[in-house]
Amino acid sequence: MLPSLYIIIPCYNEQEVLPVTAPMFRQKLLDLIAAGKISDESRILFVNDGSKDRTWELITQMARAEEHIIGISQSRNRGHQNAVLAGLMEAKDRCDITISIDCDGQDDIDAMDKMVDAYLQGNEVVYGVRSSRETDTFFKRTTAQGFYKFLSAMGAEVVYNHADYRLISSRVLQEFADFHEVNLFLRGMIPLVGFQSTTVEYARHERLAGESHYPLKKMIALAMDGITSLSVKPLRLITSFGVLVALISFIGCVWALIDALVGRTVAGWASMTCIICFVSGVQLISLGIIGEYIGKIYMETKRRPRYIISERTWEEQETDRRMPDQI
Ligand code: UDP
Ligand code: MG
Repeated sequence: MLPSLYIIIPCYNEQEVLPVTAPMFRQKLLDLIAAGKISDESRILFVNDGSKDRTWELITQMARAEEHIIGISQSRNRGHQNAVLAGLMEAKDRCDITISIDCDGQDDIDAMDKMVDAYLQGNEVVYGVRSSRETDTFFKRTTAQGFYKFLSAMGAEVVYNHADYRLISSRVLQEFADFHEVNLFLRGMIPLVGFQSTTVEYARHERLAGESHYPLKKMIALAMDGITSLSVKPLRLITSFGVLVALISFIGCVWALIDALVGRTVAGWASMTCIICFVSGVQLISLGIIGEYIGKIYMETKRRPRYIISERTWEEQETDRRMPDQI
């Protein structure tokens, strides 16, 4: 039997790009069905992440016009990671495989063929990896590369140059549903589930329309989330650093003591001030990092829902169908 595929596409204020990319995604799905790789039960699942523009209106219109397109809407904007999770959890009991992809056309949709092939060869997870970043601006390219290097230096293992374009089988998703954390960093969490996986390379294009929602500020926030939710290495670094500072201080104390004993005491104002400033700086940074983890623990203990779906296109169609009976 052919596997059914759900393509999960998070959308936040994407009214400019949706009319351009949605027909491309649809064509890709129909091509895959026609090629006999996936079943006709396959769907494109748009996840509206609380957009303030006409995005949801466009999704419902498309869902009405084309049976292969469906959509869900989050009750408010929760961020990219939560939107993808909402789509994955919604899809996990309805299909055999999911592919998550951004809606801006930056990721090459032709890589989906290779992903499905890799699944048919027995892989449960297939990571899309960017082969080049030539179309990204110099700034985006260097910050993004710094992002991956920094993550791995801090002990958060991620697949290099892999964003959130990946195939996941429903079997893996069933297991992933037991990961209850609210601090989401999907690209670091999925490898933790295990199962056979592989990578597929693709070229990254420019955004087809609209603007990026990932400015530097959000990228830094994502990196912080990734590190602090996957690794305790920063806490260990603080300890090592503390030991180093203590050692240097000890040497300094011995030196000062000898100086005092041989009567060579100097007016030590400058050295004193430097030491106090340095040590209090180190303490503040350390407290900040520890605070970051305590904040995470605080959020986790609340166990709030990670996404809330307010509408579904197929429910709307069901109510439409029920209407005539009720009259
Ligand atoms: N996105 C989302 N919620 C947000 C921000 C972004 O669902 O709060 C979606 C967005 O619509 C797009 C994807 O996440 O499909 C990636 O965002 P974007 O293209 O702006 O990021 P970039 O590719 O520049 O890193
Ligand atoms: Mg993008």
